[in-house]
Amino acid sequence: MPKFDGPPRVVGVGNPRRVGLADLDYSILQQCMHCGMCLPTCPTYQETKIERNSPRGRIAWMRSIADGDQRVTESFGREMYYCLGCLACVSACPAGVAYAELFEVARADVERERVLENPVRNGVRAFTIRWVFMRPRVLRWLGRSLWLYQVSGLQSAVRRLGLTRLLPGRLAELEPLTPDVHAPFSDDRIRQIERPAGEVRSRVGLLTGCVQDLVYPEVNRDTADVLLANGCEVFTPRAQYCCGSLHGHNGEPELARELARRQIDAFNPENLDAIITNAAGCGSHLKHYDRLLADDPAYATRAIEWSRKVKDIHEWLSAEGFRPPRSEPQPQEVTYHEACHLCHGQGITRPPREVLQSIPGLKLTELTESTWCCGSAGVYNITQPETSGRLLNRKLGHIARTGCGTVATSNPGCMVQLESGLRGEAGKEGRTRVRHTISLLAEAYRRESGRVPAGAKV
Ligand code: SF4
Ligand code: SF4
Repeated sequence: MPKFDGPPRVVGVGNPRRVGLADLDYSILQQCMHCGMCLPTCPTYQETKIERNSPRGRIAWMRSIADGDQRVTESFGREMYYCLGCLACVSACPAGVAYAELFEVARADVERERVLENPVRNGVRAFTIRWVFMRPRVLRWLGRSLWLYQVSGLQSAVRRLGLTRLLPGRLAELEPLTPDVHAPFSDDRIRQIERPAGEVRSRVGLLTGCVQDLVYPEVNRDTADVLLANGCEVFTPRAQYCCGSLHGHNGEPELARELARRQIDAFNPENLDAIITNAAGCGSHLKHYDRLLADDPAYATRAIEWSRKVKDIHEWLSAEGFRPPRSEPQPQEVTYHEACHLCHGQGITRPPREVLQSIPGLKLTELTESTWCCGSAGVYNITQPETSGRLLNRKLGHIARTGCGTVATSNPGCMVQLESGLRGEAGKEGRTRVRHTISLLAEAYRRESGRVPAGAKV
């Protein structure tokens, strides 16, 4: 059981380096050569055709702030939060612009300069980012309360009676986005250590996530089953922390660093062959703990070890040579939506397709604009609902045109976004289901009539 469930402690005092655009290695800001090749791939630029809503425009603005020619203003803050952080520009850029780092540092400047402050925003950030998502026990308690509200039928009754219209401010608009919580959570579905029935080929840690743990804990169980079926001993630390991507992407680098330290302490990467994540957004952030903790003398070396060992589940299976399921073919037509932080953030495009194509009877139909953001983008569907909604509709249109009964993807944010969109399409609910790629593989293993090792209790 991790020791901490309280406010951030300051470890490695003396380390907290100020992270701002003016302090960045200037060569990072100089990488952009203004070629514009990223523009056609940037969803916000395609929305408005305004230069400042493009990667090139945003980088130029960041550079002028680093140069001291401009100050961090409210309009700069709004621009940084209009950016999705989808990293499509990173895939398109021939100069290798480190946009992920620029984006995080720019948002940290926005928060430090307090240019977007107002009482409601301050309250929401203090409650969510600084309090709930720093405390896994509080998060689970809230998750359990929401689950009770949903399974008791209270949520349906409130919606039927139109009471959600009485919610204050924008809460009424956001209420339909509330995802279904699935209790029991991961700790009650996966034992701390599970061993494959046969030879142990690797010892891996399994990250259960925060949103994933509450909304899709069955995907974590599926991931453990797939790892067991491929000879992995699976270590799942109890009550894990949020990976810190929410904090890193929303201008709270100190909290992101603190969560990185706690995560490293909970897993002890030195004892593992790999640390596995099934959530693309988490994986993209987890792989950068080395950069995040580079100036922390107590954690820098461990963070390098950590980053070397963090693997997305598809990446791990492909690299290790996973066993194709031997189940009877079951016809199913599936299309694949690529989570931005898997394809653009981690450059992983082939392994998920290998997984899908290994499943007997599964026909994979490629999705038009499969790498185009679905509008989830962390909390973008909450902060920028109009743009998010247009991106979602664009994605749903492409999905509908495939005629597939299933859309596979690999990020809880994308799953929630697509499910909420499909729910909203009158008459179409139930026609297209959203599944994690790994759940489809786990199902195929289970169809091998009990040949999947359940994992011996330790
Ligand atoms: S992260 Fe996405 S939205 Fe932001 S500049 Fe890059 S492509 Fe555009
Ligand atoms: S593709 Fe890269 S170098 Fe070219 S404008 Fe975009 S960010 Fe700059």
